[in-house]
Amino acid sequence: MGDCIFCKIVEKKLPAKIVYEDDIVIAFDDISPQAPVHTLIIPRKHISTLMDIKDDELNLLGYMIKIARKIAKDRGIADRGFRLVTNCNPESGQSVYHIHLHMLGGRRMHWPPG
Ligand code: AMP
Repeated sequence: MGDCIFCKIVEKKLPAKIVYEDDIVIAFDDISPQAPVHTLIIPRKHISTLMDIKDDELNLLGYMIKIARKIAKDRGIADRGFRLVTNCNPESGQSVYHIHLHMLGGRRMHWPPG
């Protein structure tokens, strides 16, 4: 999608601290980290929101979680714990309309979230 900043990161037209990539997903550190580890896992394919994922591509979400688990191990937070968050549409606070998992870790998380 032409004006999607995450598509530009996928296409390497915008810089990002990429921590993992393969043919399906790319993961990079959030530009405004909310925890010592704050990494975003996104599909290369542009999908605007969770509501736009087609039923036959829902396995993409499982794959994104698989990669999140790998990154959690690599970053040393798998056993301490971490949080995966995905925002969907305005009231959630979604600001970038290209689906992504936030992986937050390295500090104690609070509940309920804001
Ligand atoms: P959300 O508000 O759930 O849509 O999350 C979007 C996230 O993308 C926010 O945490 C932003 O800090 C992050 N973000 C926006 N632009 C960039 C960028 N160029 N590189 C890395 N992270 C970004």
